Formats: sequence, C-alpha cells, structure tokens
Amino acid sequence: MTRCESCERLKNLASLNEIELIEEQLSLEIDLTSERIKEERLRICLGCPFLKNQTCTKCGCYALFRVSLEGKRCPISKW
Ligand code: SF4
Repeated sequence: MTRCESCERLKNLASLNEIELIEEQLSLEIDLTSERIKEERLRICLGCPFLKNQTCTKCGCYALFRVSLEGKRCPISKW
C-alpha cells in the first residue's frame, strides 16, 4: 500500500485520540473514495486558509474524514 504523504502530515498535526476516532469512524463508512482522490483532496486542504487544527472551518468537518468520503465535496468547491 502506498503511503499518503498528506495523511502523514495531518497525522503529525493531530492528537492520537482525534486520529483514532476518525479512523474508527471511517472503518464504518461504505462510501470511501480512492487513495489517489483522497490524497489530491488533502493536498488542496493542506494549502487552504480555512483549515485550522485539522478542521475545515467552512463545514466543521475534520479534513481527513471529509476527503475520505466519496460523496463529500469541498463547501467552497476547491475539490
Ligand atoms: S474542504 Fe475546502 S474549504 Fe475546507 S479546508 Fe478543504 S479546501 Fe478548504
């Protein structure tokens, strides 16, 4: 499996408990997007001024969680 650089960067920023919670929740989801799309979205989020403490301040979601779901979109159409 290819390591997602953006995920690694986010993981370094977030506390262990937050990441564990996000990964636990994602394990229950059925509409996960591909690793390639997830990484493309994360790259955009990591350069976005609305990302604060791993959270998108436009929608209130953890960026890692939102970018991982196929049906989600950026609230300001950046991806
Ligand atoms: S989802 Fe959109 S608005 Fe939110 S942090 Fe990512 S790029 Fe920025």
